[in-house]
Amino acid sequence: MLPIDAALPAHPMQCPHCDLELGLPALQAGQLARCPRCNDVLCRIPLHATDSTLAYALAAMIFLCLSFAFPLLGMTVEGVHQQITIFSSAEILFHEDFVLIADLLLLVLLFTPALFLAATFYVYLALRLNARWPGLRAAAQLAASSRPWMMVDVFALAILVSMIKLASLAEIHFGLSFWSLLLFSLSLTKTASLVDKHWLNFKLAQLYGDDPTQPWTDGEQSCPACDKRNPKDARRCVRCAHRLSTRRPHSLQLTVGLLLTAAILYIPANLYPIMLTESLRSSEASTILEGVVIMWNIGSYPIALIIFIASVLVPIAKFAALSLLCIAAQLRKGAGETVSARRYTQLYRVTELIGRWSMVDVFVVAILVALVRMGKIMSVYPGVAALSFTGVVVFTMLAAMSFDIRLIWDKRVNKENPAHD
Ligand SMILES: [Zn+2]
Ligand SMILES: [Zn+2]
Repeated sequence: MLPIDAALPAHPMQCPHCDLELGLPALQAGQLARCPRCNDVLCRIPLHATDSTLAYALAAMIFLCLSFAFPLLGMTVEGVHQQITIFSSAEILFHEDFVLIADLLLLVLLFTPALFLAATFYVYLALRLNARWPGLRAAAQLAASSRPWMMVDVFALAILVSMIKLASLAEIHFGLSFWSLLLFSLSLTKTASLVDKHWLNFKLAQLYGDDPTQPWTDGEQSCPACDKRNPKDARRCVRCAHRLSTRRPHSLQLTVGLLLTAAILYIPANLYPIMLTESLRSSEASTILEGVVIMWNIGSYPIALIIFIASVLVPIAKFAALSLLCIAAQLRKGAGETVSARRYTQLYRVTELIGRWSMVDVFVVAILVALVRMGKIMSVYPGVAALSFTGVVVFTMLAAMSFDIRLIWDKRVNKENPAHD
């Protein structure tokens, strides 16, 4: 059977980021379309859409299994050898009463990637075979929305940081799972980059016999989940039952609430130690900033910079950016503000993208705690700040997700185009 055509014919759509109703021109494989108003990406058409996605998803599934099956890292100090797997790291954190971090580790390294890959493989295989299998819409939704909760690449960076930290103190061995984890990270990132929500919705609509190229009629709204056009007054999508509302209810209050929670957690995250190191010579507890200073003083400048950017700069930048966006959504501005709204949209995209990289330091602590357990020779224990800092990262990510970027456009577009609601 021939693979389905990756190209999309010309069709109308509504920009999910600024609500602009527009006619998308025909797009060929490899092309990308941006919204003329907010400049956000509307649709990215992959080359060989189904075949390459299936191949990368399958490869990622194999590397996922290999990453969990073998030892990840080992170290030798004064003749004592120690090695860990990803599961044993989670188990050790669990026994150290850091259940939240242990669960999060398994969520972002195993459960979400496994679900994402299974859902992606299922949907793309159904499209490839032109088969109307059950649950395709739910699987497509899952594949399109799980990206922020997969952090295999962040974990791979954390392994490298931990190894450089330990290099002067012990002999380090990379296990088979370390190499498969690198390949898992690359193939997972590639698969995620191939999954395009709008493309998927369009092809699924065609699979079910809908014609998404029909012109818009007045008084229609697009479903944010499946792109189906519904009557303006409909409460739920006629196709997928997703709740339709012009704007997400109480989105601004929710964002502010989550942001405040993160800001409160940021105080203990910086005041208390994130990690305690015990060795024959000394025993010391270090906060995030002290950790940066220690690495800087011993000449590990790249590590000091990575931790400083990920743990100090990124969270502060996220607080500032999200606060600014909340204020901008609340302020009433007149016409001619499209340029600033476009800047705010860009700021929001960057905020969404960088948030997960803050987890680097928490993962470094998780790896060191699991690996460096040699009794009196040298041992590392997690500090309470690791927990509060995890809370900071999770709550700022949720705050960014709950923010409805269309609020920025409402106040700035209404006067320009009164017909646009
Ligand atoms: Zn737009
Ligand atoms: Zn829908």
